[in-house]
Amino acid sequence: MKKIYSGKAKDVFEKNENEVVIYFKDDATAGNGAKHAIIEGKGILNNKITDLIFKHLMSKGIETHFISKLSDREQLVKKVTIIPLEVILRNYSAGSFSKRYGVKEGKKFKEPTFEISYKEDALNDPLLNKDHAIAMEIVDEKEYEEIKSKSKEINKILTSLFERAGIILVDFKLEFGKDKEGKIVLADEFSPDNCRLWDSKTLKKLDKDNFRNDLGNLISSYEIVLERLTNVK
Ligand code: UDP
Repeated sequence: MKKIYSGKAKDVFEKNENEVVIYFKDDATAGNGAKHAIIEGKGILNNKITDLIFKHLMSKGIETHFISKLSDREQLVKKVTIIPLEVILRNYSAGSFSKRYGVKEGKKFKEPTFEISYKEDALNDPLLNKDHAIAMEIVDEKEYEEIKSKSKEINKILTSLFERAGIILVDFKLEFGKDKEGKIVLADEFSPDNCRLWDSKTLKKLDKDNFRNDLGNLISSYEIVLERLTNVK
């Protein structure tokens, strides 16, 4: 299969005209690639967690690119054109929000916040507002509103799922793509690499902040997330 894209944590191969294979690597990066390490087994865990989350979302009516999990590290997905937006939902303050606005980590928001950045590594993924995204012709107004309402719906479904797993969903990043018919579907992955997850009782961090801030063993945290999600009734 021809490799058509090599990302920081995943590679993408062309299967045929309509389908691609995503390969989950063990690379961990932070600060737009400034910090890098290979963490043995991370790709396998992220593939399993993404498989579980996408299947759950689809069972609740969310349309995604996901077709099937092929192996420990591979997924078959529908070929889409990724919309170059990093869509971020926040239920609590943390990370860049805390830093930018001087808000202590862990403030629970009355309403989830929705924000978008321009997905462009060379520019360091700059923050955008709706007008900017429309001016740059990344989306039109209708598409912007569709992405916003889909993201909020996904947040509701996943906040409830994680709550049942004894985990607080603090924030997360989504990416959307357009399929051949121009339909907007959820793409990319959903794993502890691109969300913040805190243990509901101890508030222990179970996500990539363990790597970003050298807090502890990343793999054991990701294993806890997978095990708890697997056991949700
Ligand atoms: N995030 C991501 N990729 C990015 C930027 C952010 O997956 O390029 C995720 C991150 O893991 C967190 C959420 O989006 O769950 C919010 O990230 P934030 O803006 O706080 O940025 P950070 O300082 O964590 O990079």
